[in-house]
Amino acid sequence: MKENMLLRKLLWLRHGCPPHGLYGDDGEMQCSTCGLDFKRNKAEFIERKWIEENNPKMKEFFEKQKEELDMSQNFIRTLIKKFGSILRR
Ligand SMILES: [Zn+2]
Repeated sequence: MKENMLLRKLLWLRHGCPPHGLYGDDGEMQCSTCGLDFKRNKAEFIERKWIEENNPKMKEFFEKQKEELDMSQNFIRTLIKKFGSILRR
């Protein structure tokens, strides 16, 4: 958990928004520029917001990752269909 908070802090400090929008009193890690709360927002939420808002390259990267994951899952499903009966013996 300590490591998680440290990584969140580093991310908050260097996530790309100008430093004047960062609010860090009392252990807070907020950014008024992008509206993210690095202490409370889930990592998935932060990821989705970045993808949706302003980074076409990142969007492309994650879409490709998802495609590859879907392909892998389909491949595994095909294997299970074909060879599942052997594995269950
Ligand atoms: Zn920000």
